[in-house]
Amino acid sequence: MKLIGACLILLIFASSRQLRASSVVTGTLTARQIVAQMQQNLNCTWSQETVDTFKSGNPDDMVTGVAVSMFANMETLRQAVAQNCNLIIVHEPTFYNHLDNTDKLEDNPVYLKKLEYIKKHNLIIFRFHDHWHKTVPDGIYVGMVDKLGWKANQLDKSMLFFKFDEQTVGGFAQKLQAKLKGSQLRIVGDPLMRFTNVALAVGAPGSESHINLLTGEFTELLVAGEAQEWETYQYVLDASMLGMKKAAIFTGHIPSEEAGMEYCATWMKTFVKDIPVIYLENGSAYWSVQNTPKP
Ligand SMILES: [Zn+2]
Repeated sequence: MKLIGACLILLIFASSRQLRASSVVTGTLTARQIVAQMQQNLNCTWSQETVDTFKSGNPDDMVTGVAVSMFANMETLRQAVAQNCNLIIVHEPTFYNHLDNTDKLEDNPVYLKKLEYIKKHNLIIFRFHDHWHKTVPDGIYVGMVDKLGWKANQLDKSMLFFKFDEQTVGGFAQKLQAKLKGSQLRIVGDPLMRFTNVALAVGAPGSESHINLLTGEFTELLVAGEAQEWETYQYVLDASMLGMKKAAIFTGHIPSEEAGMEYCATWMKTFVKDIPVIYLENGSAYWSVQNTPKP
């Protein structure tokens, strides 16, 4: 009995030492543990079929810092490394297609160089797309509506429909341009068309979704991210040419969603306490003649 008692005391002592030891390392989490925390803080169930997966690195590595962004482009990766972040949470693909399928890229020089950089710095990239949209309210829309300052105009919780004081499409576009610096708006329809009702379609949901919104009686102006020029653009153009009160403003994909990832960083900071979480802005992916950099 005495021996058992001694063993018990030793065990308790050992486990209390272990507890103390583990409390010292509080704050160090693996990438997998951080993603598990993200899952716990969403109010949607995690789908088995999803693009929200690790795209590079070892998920069991300890995380030194988290960088949140729309795209893990080379500049974002360099900034993440400069700021000691080895976990990068992105909304969109890293390797140029929706599923980040790299089979056809194995000999591609751009892919190989990017991969070399990712490996050299042990960067862990996790895509956070489906579930950031699926949680209620949709995290991307929350960030965007806040940035646009449209909360008071919101008609319902869907965050798809908004009512404004009557104005022209041209005037509205100028105000929108001021809010989305770096975006180059493309406007289809009559700039003098007067309207009050707006539908918002962030990202690139496809022409079927755009046309559904535009066909609805409510929508006069569609504010959308990215669309195929030969689909939604032509539909709005025809509607306008047929004398219907329909117009569309395309902001580009990144400007239409980026504030939603800025909000993602803010959201992550509410439960990732001891590891730095930073937001890295992508801005526009291209330049135009109007904003050609001066030599
Ligand atoms: Zn999106």
